[in-house]
Amino acid sequence: MTAISGSCLCGSVEFSVKDEFIYAGYCHCSMCRKSSGASGTAIGGIPREHFTITQGEEYVKTFCRSTETVSCFCEHCGSTLYGEKPAIGMVHVRYGALNRSPKLLPQAHMHVSSKADWYNISDSLPQFSEFPAAP
Ligand SMILES: [Zn+2]
Ligand SMILES: [Zn+2]
Repeated sequence: MTAISGSCLCGSVEFSVKDEFIYAGYCHCSMCRKSSGASGTAIGGIPREHFTITQGEEYVKTFCRSTETVSCFCEHCGSTLYGEKPAIGMVHVRYGALNRSPKLLPQAHMHVSSKADWYNISDSLPQFSEFPAAP
């Protein structure tokens, strides 16, 4: 089974994830906007057992951003890398941290009701006001 590597900006933290994402999309929620400082994030969902930190686990800091999500980032450079979803046993990997393109590309826009006014969605992917069909 193919794996994809990824890392933070400074390279202290590296991870490996199986290239078998279950779902993927662009998230426009206010928490993704604030934590990334961007218009939102592209994430892919993968079962926890298919995600491994391969280097620098001691540099991974966590922030419990909601009851469902623990945001995980590098303490040196601040790159947000993934979110733990303990209740559903999933990890949401930030696609921007991957070193190459995954097989499953983003399928939709999520939390469009929270989208920044200054950002216009210009593709034809489906748009959901919240998170669609939470697994
Ligand atoms: Zn880093
Ligand atoms: Zn979000």
